[in-house]
Amino acid sequence: MSLFLQTISVEEAVRLALSVTPVMPVEDVPLACSGDRVLASDIRADIDIPGFNRSVMDGYAVSAADTTGAGEAIPAMVRMAGRVSMGAPVMIQVQPGECVYVPTGGRVPDGADAVAMIEYCEQVGDIILVKRAVAPGENMIRRGEDFATGEVVLASGRRISSQDMGVLAAVGCATVPVRKIPRLGIISTGNELVPVSGLPVEGQVRDANSSLCGGFVQEYGCEACYFGIIPDTPEDLEITLSLAVAGCDLVLLSGGSSKDERDISALVISRIGKVIAHGIALSPGKPTIIGHVGQVPVIGLPGHPASAYIVLFVIVHHMLRALTGETHRERQTVSAVLSQNIPSARGREDYVRVSLAGGIATPLFGKSGLLNTLVRSTGVIRIPAGCEGLEQGSPVEVLLW
Ligand code: AMP
Ligand code: MG
Repeated sequence: MSLFLQTISVEEAVRLALSVTPVMPVEDVPLACSGDRVLASDIRADIDIPGFNRSVMDGYAVSAADTTGAGEAIPAMVRMAGRVSMGAPVMIQVQPGECVYVPTGGRVPDGADAVAMIEYCEQVGDIILVKRAVAPGENMIRRGEDFATGEVVLASGRRISSQDMGVLAAVGCATVPVRKIPRLGIISTGNELVPVSGLPVEGQVRDANSSLCGGFVQEYGCEACYFGIIPDTPEDLEITLSLAVAGCDLVLLSGGSSKDERDISALVISRIGKVIAHGIALSPGKPTIIGHVGQVPVIGLPGHPASAYIVLFVIVHHMLRALTGETHRERQTVSAVLSQNIPSARGREDYVRVSLAGGIATPLFGKSGLLNTLVRSTGVIRIPAGCEGLEQGSPVEVLLW
């Protein structure tokens, strides 16, 4: 076995990571519980919406042709033939020269093709004076204009918002097919780690990665299951990793992901499962492991929180999209101009954290391992593997966190 990491490209790493990532099974949930869940199939309108020609104003349903040329001085005169009540069937028809009163949301009777707003009408006995002409279709929504029967109203792979829930109700979707919520196992390894509530003594650091990973997966609607801090002993890690894969849909393991003799992650994954990649041409984030135990993908993240975060952002992001079924999730980008040169080594994909202000992207250089770039940056600039750097003043796309 080589002493050094055999790196693969980011593209290949994403491909391999996806090859071991399943998609969650489907479950039906009541509409009221579907918020923030991922839709598992296309939802179609079961009826025309609206189901009838509907007025959007209080006014008089008329034949638009009867109002041609009408104005303040010479109003059109139509005979009031009746009133429409909300929610009740409409038996009446509008004949030429007639009108019917319709409240907002009421059905426009057959024979009428427009609604004259009440504000522009005057009643004199059973005659209505229409003082403004209306065009066909004015002040009404035609049957099926909002959604037609059979039309896809919401596509599979979308995370359900409150607006979506309103539309699901309108199309009669009382139970909603959604993807089950994935459980994400999170393990931190390192003899030097102490829990958040502990006070580190010399040589110790607080475990930042458990919370970093937990927060990240929750942003994808996953449930975080914390397996705690495990010392750098293969036997301990093997027990915990076995437990984690037994109860979770994907496991994130941080620390010990390189090839030093104290780096035990790859060893333990390969003892109970398989390592399919070890090392990615990615900076930061080179010492990353892609593996699986049975059907459960296991990702070994570098210990440095800032590096671990880039691997989450660049690789795990795709796995969580696939696992949750949220295929519609897109990254937000912003165009900016670079404030200074950024050198980059050929052969690896560089992710440079930047802060953004007034359209200017300023790189936050720092030794790897600094936490401050995690909170001072707005996003990252991706420098492709074949590029030796970017020059000051060049236009860049910033991938927002
Ligand atoms: P490793 O990848 O285990 O070699 O760790 C690289 C660096 O990241 C070391 O300085 C570790 O102390 C630090 N580190 C590892 N795991 C964590 C963690 N969970 N939280 C904060 N720092 C960590
Ligand atoms: Mg370590």
